[in-house]
Amino acid sequence: MLNIGVIGVGEIGKMHIEKITSRISNARIIRINDTNESYAISVAKKYGAEIEKDPHALIAANDVDAVIITCWDQYHEEFTLAAINEKKPVFCEKPLSNTADACMRIMNAEMESGKRVLTVGFMRRFDKSYISLKETIESGEIGEPLLIHAQHRNVAPLGDLRFTTEMSISNSLAHEFDVTRWLINEEYESIQFIEPKRTRNVNYDYSDPQMAILRTKSGVHIDFEVFLNARYGYDIQCEVVGEEGTARLQDSNRSVTLRRNGLCSQSVYSNWKERFEEAYDNELRQWVDGVLAGEAIGPNAWDGYVAASVAESCIKSRLERRTVKLDYINCPKFYEKSKK
Ligand code: NAP
Repeated sequence: MLNIGVIGVGEIGKMHIEKITSRISNARIIRINDTNESYAISVAKKYGAEIEKDPHALIAANDVDAVIITCWDQYHEEFTLAAINEKKPVFCEKPLSNTADACMRIMNAEMESGKRVLTVGFMRRFDKSYISLKETIESGEIGEPLLIHAQHRNVAPLGDLRFTTEMSISNSLAHEFDVTRWLINEEYESIQFIEPKRTRNVNYDYSDPQMAILRTKSGVHIDFEVFLNARYGYDIQCEVVGEEGTARLQDSNRSVTLRRNGLCSQSVYSNWKERFEEAYDNELRQWVDGVLAGEAIGPNAWDGYVAASVAESCIKSRLERRTVKLDYINCPKFYEKSKK
């Protein structure tokens, strides 16, 4: 049985706790921490976990075997470093951090410790439809990939959270930056940010939608769209154009296509929890099984560093209105063997 401590029990923290409690038989949540006292109290009560007021005490606690970090991005570095220091397996939600420098410090600390303990929550790698798209590309059926069109649309960011232009890049596009290089097994060369006309459905200074064009080292061009106030639904798409054909991400929508009253319709997901429900399940189950078997599986600190570094360059491209050459370091040997 794996005893887990969780730091941050907001939207995704609660979801992970519920999944572990109800669907994963070889793990349980024993301690939680959150700066939001009312969240902490209600989660502790519901799941019978103890509240630990000091997150560092939670990480160091003798009865905590592994840690999940689901608080906000800017605290990920502090807590992952503390877990690495304790040599405890740690699952940290994406982005690993907002800055490439912070990710580099995390990578260096893990490499110095000599043991991989960190997994980053890029859960799309555990999604059936992405896995099947990757298998199709690798089968060679569509020939060499030449172009990718990727789209990330949401109804609106959660609650009263005020998403900033930079957060669309470092927090949301980060998923795209990670999953695409994983899909085609290639590294990026340059990025260009594009700022289209803004939606009138946002009443503060926030650029939405946004686009970015990435070029890989072999010359594949990828256009990413992120539109977080798209209103109509949560809609993730990806199409890979190859020399011999194209492959499109299956929208694993379970609803039927309805033809009625002169209309043909199909429902669209309303949020990320629905769309990636199974991916989150698979990600957590494999993480728990990996930890119990003594290995850290899934996206690693280097993957977190690459996404943060690409996001930084994307923000630079926006500010300087030019294409920016990417300068992230090659994969350290330490992480090569743990590529998923
Ligand atoms: P959220 O609902 O705001 O929850 C975050 C919780 O962490 C809040 O209760 C917050 O308390 C608490 N917190 C903030 N700073 C803390 C600290 N220093 N120590 C302990 N607790 C702290 O946010 P969320 O949507 O769950 O997102 C959390 C993280 O998960 C983010 O990094 C986000 O990018 C990631 N995420 C990933 C996915 C995915 O698809 N993989 C999806 C959603 C979110 P306060 O209310 O006091 O700030």
